Amino acid sequence: MRVAVVTVGDELLAGETVNTNAAWLGEQLTARGARVERVVTVPDRVEDIADVVREYHDRYDAVVVTGGLGPTHDDLTMEAVASAFDRDLERDESALDWLEANGGYVREDLTAGTADLPAGARVLHNEEGVAPGCVVESVYVLPGVPAEMKAMFEGIREEFTGTRRHVATVAVDEPESALLDRFEELRERFGVTVGSYPGEFVRVKLRGEDATAVEAAAAWLRERSTLVDSGAVTE
Ligand code: ATP
Ligand code: MG
Repeated sequence: MRVAVVTVGDELLAGETVNTNAAWLGEQLTARGARVERVVTVPDRVEDIADVVREYHDRYDAVVVTGGLGPTHDDLTMEAVASAFDRDLERDESALDWLEANGGYVREDLTAGTADLPAGARVLHNEEGVAPGCVVESVYVLPGVPAEMKAMFEGIREEFTGTRRHVATVAVDEPESALLDRFEELRERFGVTVGSYPGEFVRVKLRGEDATAVEAAAAWLRERSTLVDSGAVTE
């Protein structure tokens, strides 16, 4: 399953808030075996959000959108998702019922618009906050507040599927340029993908669906490389 992640918010683009939601979702979706192929951040602007939702809904099996829920003036995500699907925004009575039954709210006291969702959407209740999320076709709309987003993701986690890739990491104390021939041979011999991440030393990540092939590739590389002291490797 190929997935795109869309994070919404001016404060993310300005670097005022670190985009931990994108990293967390990338990790969780990858652990399910889904392939995250796009992560994009867009401003709090209806057309920008609607454009990427429309485009990625066409191109990917699922789209996960976070941020910009709720009834305040800069919470435009629901309006944008509705617009991307040419649907109206409608008050979702079942979401209000749930907030009364589980959140301890009285619907008259909730800010107008709190439970407005694109017509026909499946509601996702917010166990940690107020604003509900929703699912429209294969577009999942989650809150921006990390605790709320994570709790809501638990309810939909199993809808993301795929073949998990096994990953082996080898920490090599050689310049990246010296490793190129070995990288090529790893790909040819073992059919793994090779990621090379330089820093103080080079972390080589071998990935593939066949765990035995990945481990064999890692053993092959370890035998032929100057390795970093295992004590120096944190991951
Ligand atoms: P609520 O449902 O409570 O109204 P929301 O969905 O409207 O939340 P935002 O208003 O977009 O969420 O963001 C609320 C706060 O959540 C931000 O101020 C920021 O601290 C945090 N946040 C939003 N997006 C992210 C993100 N991608 N990564 C980390 N934190 C985020
Ligand atoms: Mg908000």
